[in-house]
Amino acid sequence: MKILIIEDEAKAGDYLRQGLSEAGYVTDLARDGADGLHHALTADYDLLVLDVMLPGLTGWQVLEALRGAGKDLPVIFLTARDQVEDRVHGLELGADDYLVKPFAFSELLARVRTLLRRGRGNAEASVLRAADLELDLLRRRVMRAGTRIELTAKEFALLELFMRRQGEVLPRSLIASQVWDMNFDSDTNVIEVAVRRLRAKVDEPFSVRLIRTVRGMGYVLEAPEG
Ligand code: CA
Repeated sequence: MKILIIEDEAKAGDYLRQGLSEAGYVTDLARDGADGLHHALTADYDLLVLDVMLPGLTGWQVLEALRGAGKDLPVIFLTARDQVEDRVHGLELGADDYLVKPFAFSELLARVRTLLRRGRGNAEASVLRAADLELDLLRRRVMRAGTRIELTAKEFALLELFMRRQGEVLPRSLIASQVWDMNFDSDTNVIEVAVRRLRAKVDEPFSVRLIRTVRGMGYVLEAPEG
């Protein structure tokens, strides 16, 4: 899950970025309206956290341009002014939710999770399954054969990616961009180490292995047939 933050105040931006990263999301941070709009139009994000008072383009202008371009990703706007008109204006422009600064990070996180869930639509299950492995997106919980498995935020994000794209061989570069938000450097073994740790928890204690290495290509999570 990839989140774009558009926030010009350095401290607030870094705080948001760090908090959302620790919660397992991949984040990009833009410091002004024009740069943020460019990011939002050219890359695929699952959610936007948008400050209203921005240099260059205001948050309202960014939101209008996005909706005008047909981008329907959920948007939470941050407003310093606790004014009814402000909130109404944002919602009229197509924002999905708002927070008045200062806010508790836990509150933002709760709104983010709600919107991401809604964004996926009611039709989509909140529990992903592969054989006897279950990943519960709402409870952020993983179970296999009835046993609870404790994962770090990154391991959870990695497993979620594997389970959403079951049967698909995922190159390391794709995993890096989706889970680590880093430019892929072939010298780093971050991905290998993370996959090894994930397998040690999710696969090794069980008789059937779900995650396979495809030599020279990447990794695939696949439930055996039958
Ligand atoms: Ca601001």
